[in-house]
Amino acid sequence: MGAVDLHVHSTASDGKFPPEEVVRQAGRAGIRYLALADHDSVDGIIPALQAVKAFPRMKLLPCVEVSTDVPDGEVHVLGYFIDYTDENLKATLRKFRESRLNRAQKMVKKLGTLGVHVRWERVKEIAGAGAVGRPHIAQAMMEKGYIKNMREAFFKYIGREGPAYVEREKMTPVEAVGEVLKYGGLPVLAHPLSAQGAEAWVAELKSMGLAGIEVYCNNYSTDDMRILLGLATKYDLLTTGGSDFHGLGSEIGAPLGGVHVPVECAERLIATAKQRGLRLT
Ligand code: AMP
Ligand code: FE
Ligand code: FE
Ligand code: ZN
Repeated sequence: MGAVDLHVHSTASDGKFPPEEVVRQAGRAGIRYLALADHDSVDGIIPALQAVKAFPRMKLLPCVEVSTDVPDGEVHVLGYFIDYTDENLKATLRKFRESRLNRAQKMVKKLGTLGVHVRWERVKEIAGAGAVGRPHIAQAMMEKGYIKNMREAFFKYIGREGPAYVEREKMTPVEAVGEVLKYGGLPVLAHPLSAQGAEAWVAELKSMGLAGIEVYCNNYSTDDMRILLGLATKYDLLTTGGSDFHGLGSEIGAPLGGVHVPVECAERLIATAKQRGLRLT
C-alpha cells in the first residue's frame, strides 16, 4: 500500500463514498498525502478538510478534475490547490455540472432507442447531489439487469465508441488549463494516455502553463510510465499520480493507495505551490 494518492473521487462526483469517508479510509490505510479530485466539483473539499483533522499525519490536497473531450480521446486536467472557496469558480463548475445533466439525459434517451430502458429519475437519484457521470448511468443499467458489470456498459453502450455515447459541451483542454490557473491551481494532465498523441498534448498544454503530468496511473505498464517520465523530463514538468479510486471495486480505478506514487512527487508539488504563493489548504 502506497503512502501517496493524489487522485481520488467521492460522492461529490462519481465516487461511491462521501468525502469524509474517503478521508477516513485513507487515514486508516496509512496514506500521508491524499488529493480529492472530483470531476467538475470542489464540493467535497471542505468536508474532507474537516475529516482530515482526525489524522494529523495525513495532508489533504484540494483538487478538481476538469473533463474535456477531444476527437480521439479524453483529456482530463487536474487542478491542485485550486481556490475551492472562489464563488466564480464554483459558478463555473456548476455550469459544467448542469451540462453533464443534459448530456447524461441524452445518453439515457439514446439507450432507450436501443432497447435499454433506464429511468432518468433513477440515474439522478444514484448521482445524488454529485456531478452526474457515466458510472451512474452504468449503475442504473446494472440494477435493471441489462449488463453484468460496469465494463460491459462502457464496452457495449456508453464508452466513447459506444452507440449511446454523447460528447460533452465543448471546453478545450487549453481552456481547462486556463481555468485552473485563473483560480490559483496547478494544472496537471491526468492519465495522459487516455488521448491519442500524448506528447502533442503535453507540448501544447505546457506552452499554456501546464505544471505537471500524471505518470503513476492505474493499469499503466512500466513502459508507459517510462515514456511519461521521459516526457516530464523533456518538458520540465512535475510528476504525480494516484489510484483514481472511485470505491466501485476493480472496475473503475484502484483501491486507495493502490498505485505506487513516490513521496517526492507530493513534496515537489507542494514545494512548487509554495513557490508560486498558492494557498495550500
Ligand atoms: P463521464 O465523466 O460521464 O464522461 O464518465 C467518465 C467516468 O467513467 C470516468 O471518470 C470513470 O469513472 C468512468 N469510466 C470511463 N471509462 C470507463 C470504462 N471503460 N470502464 C469503467 N468505467 C469507466
Ligand atoms: Fe470518474
Ligand atoms: Fe479522469
Ligand atoms: Zn479521475
